[in-house]
Amino acid sequence: MSRDPRFDPLFEPIRIGPKVARNRFFQVPHCTGMGRWWPTASAVMRGVKAEGGWAVVSTEQCDIHPTGNVMRQIRLWDEQDIPALARTAELIQAHGSLAAIELVHNGYKMANLESREIPMAPSARPVYGILPVAARAMDRSDIKAVRRWHRQAALNARKAGFDIVYVYAGHDLALPMHFLARRHNQRTDEYGGSLANRARLLRELLEDTHDAVGDRCAVALRLAVDELLGPDGITSEGEGREIVAMVAEMPDLWDVNVSAGENDSLTARFGDEGFQEPYTSFVKSLTSKPVVGVGRYTSPDRMLALVKKGVLDFIGAARPSIADPFLPRKIEEGRIEDIRECIGCNICVAGNNLSSPMRCTQNPTMSEEWRRDWHPERVPPRGRDEKVLVVGAGPAGLEAARTLGQRGYRVMLAEAGRDLGGRVARECRLPGLAAWRRVTDWRLGQLAKLANVELFRESRMTAEDVLQAECDVAAIATGARWRADGVGRRHSFAIDGLGLMPVLTPDDIMDGALPPGPVLVYDDDHYYMGGVVAEALRRAGLAITLVTPESMASAFTQFTLEQARIQGRLIELGVAVLTATDLVALHKGEAEIACVYTSRTRRIEAGSVVMVTTQTPEDSLYMALMEKPDALAAAGIRRVARIGDALAPGLIAAAVWSGHRFGREIDRQESDAVGFRRENVELAAL
Ligand code: ADP
Ligand code: SF4
Repeated sequence: MSRDPRFDPLFEPIRIGPKVARNRFFQVPHCTGMGRWWPTASAVMRGVKAEGGWAVVSTEQCDIHPTGNVMRQIRLWDEQDIPALARTAELIQAHGSLAAIELVHNGYKMANLESREIPMAPSARPVYGILPVAARAMDRSDIKAVRRWHRQAALNARKAGFDIVYVYAGHDLALPMHFLARRHNQRTDEYGGSLANRARLLRELLEDTHDAVGDRCAVALRLAVDELLGPDGITSEGEGREIVAMVAEMPDLWDVNVSAGENDSLTARFGDEGFQEPYTSFVKSLTSKPVVGVGRYTSPDRMLALVKKGVLDFIGAARPSIADPFLPRKIEEGRIEDIRECIGCNICVAGNNLSSPMRCTQNPTMSEEWRRDWHPERVPPRGRDEKVLVVGAGPAGLEAARTLGQRGYRVMLAEAGRDLGGRVARECRLPGLAAWRRVTDWRLGQLAKLANVELFRESRMTAEDVLQAECDVAAIATGARWRADGVGRRHSFAIDGLGLMPVLTPDDIMDGALPPGPVLVYDDDHYYMGGVVAEALRRAGLAITLVTPESMASAFTQFTLEQARIQGRLIELGVAVLTATDLVALHKGEAEIACVYTSRTRRIEAGSVVMVTTQTPEDSLYMALMEKPDALAAAGIRRVARIGDALAPGLIAAAVWSGHRFGREIDRQESDAVGFRRENVELAAL
């Protein structure tokens, strides 16, 4: 197939300084959680993006000196760091794409725990967060030193083979941004005061970088043109615009966004595709240089409109390129319906924030390209001519059936209900989670193309049914149900007084139950469900108190960068949020709660409780089959496996990954081997 000529503008080459990008798809810098600890896995992942058609593929931020030491990202402190980065550039260029590197000095943002160097800032201040470390004010010799380090890093980046070298002033993470922002820069010398003075370091870094490597490399500037902080920060109507005007022609490429990370990587719960346009669309009018911008773009029509209307020259993507590394190729090949759209959940971001190779809800192969040899588009052909029964069409079952089908196995997918998608089909009806439906939609679209996969709705399977299904292998993907007794992290035993008032679970709420108010939502799960259920019930007009033993609502969402917005929204909606509080007993018309520090109890009025604590695997079918080894052997079933939430309830991303792994490894010999490649630290000479 070839592309619809309508999309031709997205495939026009464009010049960036001394380089030419082959099309308008630009993977902007994004973290991966792999960084310097997983250089090969990271390089291969970037190479796969290039293979998938992104004309420019960037690294994450790369720190240039131990005084701005970001432990989990890549680094380019001196020549010793070149080989790992050279491999990234090489794998990107092998597919005809340009390799970009984002140089950074993190200023006051990092405590330099590894290097123990004192952090630096335009003006003295504590470092970001809660660590008991202060950054010192930079003097003129420090500024000269930063310029020297940046220049040397640019030269080393060129030596490593990069085509584009970034000067980074985004996300409130980078020193030039700290100089620009009035709230960080209270200097009285030529680097402080007026905007022209505050922009001096940025100008100097742009000049230095051009001077050092501009003959062979393009120089990009990443600038946050709005920090969404109002007058305390840079705004697209105020200083953001002035800065762009001031240095408009200095970079070869503008990469513009909003700051900080929680605004730039806004989740689908809080914003739609294109959410950055109101802030960034002015940039093109002030510069003749190409402009890249982001906004979780997954719709080719939207992308086309942006390029045609001259809002952007490049469609920038971090998350959409993680969810589908082959997005550009699919447009180019006229396979738009094959695009696996990002759902805007930020599980990828959480992986990085937890210093682990990032995972993606939509793309189970993310970070596994080299570690497990999982390509996002290609699978090995089937190892045996077998028929596989998959029971349950949630994310795990759908992904297992899809992967097996793609490999050429004969697959029967049996689902008890009419609706397909399992928990996703239910959860996407909760406030703000509509985009999650894409997990199901994409898989159903792919399954429809596979003649070797048969789908059976309204087919609740018993052990007898499985034995009679004439399959060689059965995968049990029957999901999980929320517990109603309060057992979870905090409570190992059922909460007292369960019979004294209606007790519901998120499953009941998703089934449409409206509990009698006032409702106490007890969240001992700490991801999205407690907050979302509280929001849904509040929107239905009920009085809600959210009780959680954690010190904030939906505590895990700190890692997905949503926590502040979630708690803010609950408060705005009128949900009473009681943190550091446990639910200890139920009484008639009242719930007994306790401070987690003092154990002091008190009672609050409650007409019902919704328990959001933990889920129990729905594994009764699996257990029933395990009790019949002889019948399984007689039926010719060589293996029964539990996958997804039926094995252990968790993230949707984990269920998808589990289904994918089952599909990939169905014909693999059982083994005690580690199962994935590691990058071993080379022992240094003593
Ligand atoms: P996961 O996240 O692991 O994919 P889900 O809970 O999303 O799990 O999906 C499990 C699916 O399995 C649900 O759609 C449910 O209706 C279905 N299911 C559960 N038990 C059976 C069964 N015995 N036969 C067929 N389908 C089942
Ligand atoms: Fe998108 Fe979620 Fe995948 Fe991140 S993890 S790329 S937000 S689908």
